[in-house]
Amino acid sequence: VSTPSSPPNTPELWFTERDLEQNVGFSVRIRRHLHSEQSPLQRIDIYDTYAHGRMMTLDGLVMATERDEFIYHEMMAHVPLFSHPDPKQMLIIGGGDGGTLREVLRHPRVARCVMVEIDRAVVEASRRFLPTLASGLDDARAEILFEDGISYVQNAADGAFDVILIDCTDPVGPAEGLFQLPFYRQCLRVLGADGILCQQTESPLYMPHLIRDVHAALATAGFEITRSNQAHCVSYPSGWWSFTLGSKALDPACDFRREDAAKRGFATKYYNERLHAGCFMLPTMVSELIASASSADRENESCA
Ligand code: SAM
Repeated sequence: VSTPSSPPNTPELWFTERDLEQNVGFSVRIRRHLHSEQSPLQRIDIYDTYAHGRMMTLDGLVMATERDEFIYHEMMAHVPLFSHPDPKQMLIIGGGDGGTLREVLRHPRVARCVMVEIDRAVVEASRRFLPTLASGLDDARAEILFEDGISYVQNAADGAFDVILIDCTDPVGPAEGLFQLPFYRQCLRVLGADGILCQQTESPLYMPHLIRDVHAALATAGFEITRSNQAHCVSYPSGWWSFTLGSKALDPACDFRREDAAKRGFATKYYNERLHAGCFMLPTMVSELIASASSADRENESCA
């Protein structure tokens, strides 16, 4: 393909993430293909792109690009951490690129963050090619384990963690069970009294049933409050992303540490205390989906 900005016959390399269910694609122009490997679990590629800096894909699906990863990682970490009264013991499931860990470690209250990633090769590729994401991996508070997050949680002690962040791939293959009731029951057990869980729940436009199913499963597991929020994750399918939180006691939309969030003492590019409240104000179609999953319908209530 040649464009008006390139001379005729100049070859161009493009990467396209193809979604054959939705019949859409997300394309970025590639400067160089830096790395490709097949781990026992998945194919890992790193590209240098013109518009988005370096980009990691797993099995051809975009996981992170240097240009917009802050949006997903700030929302995954700071909303639940500022919603918990005193987050000290943290657990990340997945998250092998390191972006969520980096954000978690910005909170000085965090004493320990265990990250359980099923595929060591993802962490190694990130260390080598995505140093701005991987910067927290060697922090003294970080404990990186390579195993299945489902069995890790099954074997963890009651009340061991304050917050669990599930930063995983799509709900297929090894990540499938991370979106299901038996796993959420175990998460409830290993969370302390004010425990909060945050699960990435994909695009509300392309996978609406997932938000509904995760709400229903979290409520059935025993989470008192379930809430979803949204963010603009430009390089994920549709660019419109959701996170679903389950909380044992406090409502993440209303009871969060607003003043601490305002005086957070570290730089963010997306998250702030106003957005924390605002991201839970959902479009009608998402509110209706969530209402269809729960009789309590708390999600549609505003804060008192
Ligand atoms: N932000 C990304 C997204 O939403 O597409 C997720 C990025 S992170 C690289 C996802 C990680 O979850 C992958 O490295 C994958 O190996 C890991 N993962 C998938 N299933 C897992 C499981 N059962 N236990 C632990 N890690 C898992």
